[in-house]
Amino acid sequence: MGFNIAIDGPAGAGKSTIAKRLSKELSFVYVDTGAMYRAMALYFIRSGIDPKDEAAISAACAEIDITISYQDGVQCVVLNGENVNGYIRTEEVGIMASNTSIYPKVREKLTSLQQKLAQTSDVIMDGRDIGTCVLPNAQIKIYLTARADARAKRRYDELVKKGMEADYAQIEADINERDYRDMHREIAPLRQAEDAVLIDSSDLSIDEVVAAIRSIYDKA
Ligand code: C5P
Repeated sequence: MGFNIAIDGPAGAGKSTIAKRLSKELSFVYVDTGAMYRAMALYFIRSGIDPKDEAAISAACAEIDITISYQDGVQCVVLNGENVNGYIRTEEVGIMASNTSIYPKVREKLTSLQQKLAQTSDVIMDGRDIGTCVLPNAQIKIYLTARADARAKRRYDELVKKGMEADYAQIEADINERDYRDMHREIAPLRQAEDAVLIDSSDLSIDEVVAAIRSIYDKA
């Protein structure tokens, strides 16, 4: 097993920004597991499948092949041979991912892929169930959170920066709804692992959060 750092937390807490920065500093591979759930969600959207139809979602899982490749250190999610990085960052896909990540067939498929990635390399992996389910033996576990208003503001700024349409009130409502679903689902709900270190990033800069995790790593 490589050295594994697990970062879990709700949407918009800064997980991917922090994990990307740390992966560069430490020369670890960054694994964004949310992107994998989003790629599956994209397939369900394109196929016109109703997220409430578990039988159809489960059957469609057999048609989906997800692989991960890296180009200049950037993770590319490849869905049935197509790099879908450019299509998975919308709110629509995020909501579909949250609605369909509740199903066992979806989770089984991605959990085993994630575990394989962590066996062969030193990884920083972020998601919702990494410290609790995917990598229960990770040497470092972080639960990164922030107040809902701070997280909604970040998501809003991110979308505006990308030139995308953004409605702050809608984003905050979506975030709250998504968190509720992620925390209350039956399988692998979002929660802090008992041995995870809690970091609240509401009033911290990116540098401060990176430094906090770096010092945990340096002492490990
Ligand atoms: O982190 P991101 O917003 O990209 O994740 C999209 C959705 O994928 C989450 O709301 C969650 O429902 C699901 N997810 C998950 N387990 C993970 C990562 C993401 O269930 N490890």
